[in-house]
Amino acid sequence: MQALQRLQIPCLTDNYCVLLHAPETGETVAIDAPDAAVVKSALASRGWRLTHILTTHHHNDHTAGNLELKGFFGCQIWGPSAEADRIPGLDIGVDESSQLNIAGHAVRVIETPGHTLGHISYWLPDDQIAFTGDTLFSLGCGRMFEGDAKTMWASLSKLSFLPDATAIYCGHEYTLANGRFALSIEPENAALAKRMDEVATLRAAGQPTLPTTLGVEKATNPFLRTGSTAVRARLGLEGASDWQVFARLRELKNKG
Ligand SMILES: [Zn+2]
Repeated sequence: MQALQRLQIPCLTDNYCVLLHAPETGETVAIDAPDAAVVKSALASRGWRLTHILTTHHHNDHTAGNLELKGFFGCQIWGPSAEADRIPGLDIGVDESSQLNIAGHAVRVIETPGHTLGHISYWLPDDQIAFTGDTLFSLGCGRMFEGDAKTMWASLSKLSFLPDATAIYCGHEYTLANGRFALSIEPENAALAKRMDEVATLRAAGQPTLPTTLGVEKATNPFLRTGSTAVRARLGLEGASDWQVFARLRELKNKG
């Protein structure tokens, strides 16, 4: 099995679409489709033909291109069965029991509710890649539009059990702003300071800060560090449960 080729495409203001291409079969997958025209032109630049769209959640900035791309390529659209009626052009509703693959590469669905109630992440274990949509961002996490703090924390906690080497692709380029908040919580975290140097350099050069890896996020992302003594001390929540530490972080981030 050959490695999947990957192309990350900036869309709209700060969204990403990622294309995965299997050279043996020609299958090409878009994870989320924020903008049909931009995705089409990226496909054309590689000579790839879109066969699948994998939707993470129903928000318009992740699905706006679905119908046009489906009309043009006849591609199949997968998305969370829990949001089936809200995903334009959905063909196959998926959940954690789904057995999926792209050109023989296993695709696992991880249910990660909180940002929306049906939000899912996709994990390709053989390829060590995960697409976490608007649940886990680099140095941050999504807002809870539909779920509560306990639900969102459980979803992040689920993702934190993936292997550390997993490359994490996210729905948005929010890393720089997220990192400023992270530094306000953990000013002494050397791994975070180092990551922020890299992030600043990448953004100054107009480059994406993604993918990150789960290992880096566990060392730097406060929302995955609810067990850290330093984070808890900073918040005065030494004895609280993890989800309560998470809830406080989310509250502070929303204010900032
Ligand atoms: Zn969203």
